[in-house]
Amino acid sequence: MGKIKVEGLKKSFGTNHVLKGIDISVNEGEVVCVIGPSGSGKSTFLRCINQLDEITAGRVIVDDRDLNDPKTNINKARENIGMVFQHFNLFPHFSVLKNIMFAPRELGILKEQEARDTALRLLDRVGLSDKADSYPNQLSGGQKQRVAIARALAMNPDVMLFDEPTSALDPEMVGEVLGVMKDLASEGMTMIIVTHEMGFAREVADRVVFMDGGYVVEQGTPVEIFGNPKNERTISFLEKVL
Ligand code: ADP
Ligand code: MG
Repeated sequence: MGKIKVEGLKKSFGTNHVLKGIDISVNEGEVVCVIGPSGSGKSTFLRCINQLDEITAGRVIVDDRDLNDPKTNINKARENIGMVFQHFNLFPHFSVLKNIMFAPRELGILKEQEARDTALRLLDRVGLSDKADSYPNQLSGGQKQRVAIARALAMNPDVMLFDEPTSALDPEMVGEVLGVMKDLASEGMTMIIVTHEMGFAREVADRVVFMDGGYVVEQGTPVEIFGNPKNERTISFLEKVL
């Protein structure tokens, strides 16, 4: 069953046609890694899924809700879609605990004590129990990104989107963030992950999607894509990054 269904998705910025017709369906619990060259539209694709970018044509359906249907409450729908960005986007003036509690409190989804308990549980889950009272500028990049993941999880989403979550990290911090994502995957979270970490994609992805020039050029299991890519552009991309 398709948890996320993208049909004929197009996105243009003025005359720049970035997404030229994307069709993809992601099943519940599936982990999809999106790879491809810079500028191929990967971030735009993720941003269109939760409507951070307004789509030009096509449909995005999450949990059987058409996100472009004017009758759909987009804010409500977004509560189920967690997003993690390359540059963390934490609130600098809030403590770690408050960063995680903020959305569920602000939206009235959890009571103060529930939000606090949830935040502490999530901090424990990402291995940062001792950082509840720290501020973002006191954390390493890897710690910030783990807080950002905990913050997204605080809304209890059933879909998580990651846009190059480890690209801004020093190499020694990549593993700790990928470890948290791997745990999430094994717990059955539905995830779409844009990444340059080919080792992670190979190990964790159920499916690897190669994008280039605004199209999904090729997709398949990690064994298929990394072991036996069929499309010339996939082959040439993988030659450069592997
Ligand atoms: P990727 O994540 O694969 O590197 P992006 O989705 O970020 O690619 O960008 C694809 C293209 O879309 C680029 O040409 C970029 O300039 C353009 N683009 C992305 N966001 C915007 C925007 N907000 N306004 C105008 N152009 C944009
Ligand atoms: Mg990008």
